Amino acid sequence: MTLWKHYLRPQTIDDALKALASAQGSIAIIAGGTDLMLDLQQGRHPPVDTLIDVTAIPSLHGLEVREGRLFIGAAVPLSQIAASPLVRQHAQALAEATGMMAGPQVRNVATLGGNVAHALPAADGAMALLALDAQAEIASPRGRRWEPIVALYRGPGESALAADEILVGFHLPLASAGQASAFRRVMRPQGVALPVLNIAVWLAREGERLADVRIAVGPFGPVPRRAQAAENALRGQPFTPQALEAAREALLQEARFRTSRYRATLEYRRHLAGILLQDALSTAWKRAAIAQSRD
Ligand SMILES: Cc1cc2nc3c(=O)[nH]c(=O)nc-3n(C[C@H](O)[C@H](O)[C@H](O)COP(=O)(O)OP(=O)(O)OC[C@H]3O[C@@H](n4cnc5c(N)ncnc54)[C@H](O)[C@@H]3O)c2cc1C
Repeated sequence: MTLWKHYLRPQTIDDALKALASAQGSIAIIAGGTDLMLDLQQGRHPPVDTLIDVTAIPSLHGLEVREGRLFIGAAVPLSQIAASPLVRQHAQALAEATGMMAGPQVRNVATLGGNVAHALPAADGAMALLALDAQAEIASPRGRRWEPIVALYRGPGESALAADEILVGFHLPLASAGQASAFRRVMRPQGVALPVLNIAVWLAREGERLADVRIAVGPFGPVPRRAQAAENALRGQPFTPQALEAAREALLQEARFRTSRYRATLEYRRHLAGILLQDALSTAWKRAAIAQSRD
């Protein structure tokens, strides 16, 4: 069975938008194809008439500081993100997440745009972007707009992007003195592409006090969301074992983990959540001290 009839490779965003508007029949955007091709082959996605490959568009490949923010194009391969000194400096959680995803062959073609647009609630790259407070840039025939990561999800595997919209890239705040992030996950050794549990944290340290914190946990619910009760338990507090324990308890009260047939039991996820949370927070806390002392 043919999975598509026409394959287009536009060189600009405008040409890609025109192709989306004018192609006949059903259409899908493709980047690395590591999610989409499996979905097509295994019948989770209906066959398409036209695939529009966005990987030849130079503006989707930017990775640079732009107007005081770190810009990462939607079509930059994960391996390039993981190795980037800029990402390691300003977004350690994303460097760690993209460096852990899949294996080297997949990382060389898979993209951050595809990871987010595929809309799974525990996708590693998306969780790191959430903790890092990234904004997505979206192009459509109506112009450009920016949206927070949570606004891109409608439900598990269901993106809120409209059919005529293209993810251009992600804008992340630069890390200031005393700010750092970390990503931790537990994965089954093989056979599944999503983690048993992942946690991304970002924090701002002022001396021995945690001035601000963002925590993203996946899977936490049908769409990615932050663990706000755990964040509230930590914000403004001294970084002590008591504060970490309060955050763990708040996280477990707030989380609606469930048993998944292919990945883990609810009990195992609850057990891991406390361990990964404390590990990610302690790592980011130590990194923030180094970042403080360099300034
Ligand atoms: C063996 C294997 C291991 C994996 N391991 C992991 C893992 O550890 N962690 C993890 O999170 N994921 C994992 N994945 C899933 C997958 O590799 C990632 O989600 C990857 O980032 C998807 O990117 P892609 O470029 O291949 O997306 P594609 O498959 O090309 O596209 C995915 C979806 O996004 C849409 N899309 C792509 N780009 C755009 C754009 N610019 N604008 C709008 N829509 C767009 C497509 O239409 C499609 O719906 C794994 C996959 C495989 C095959």
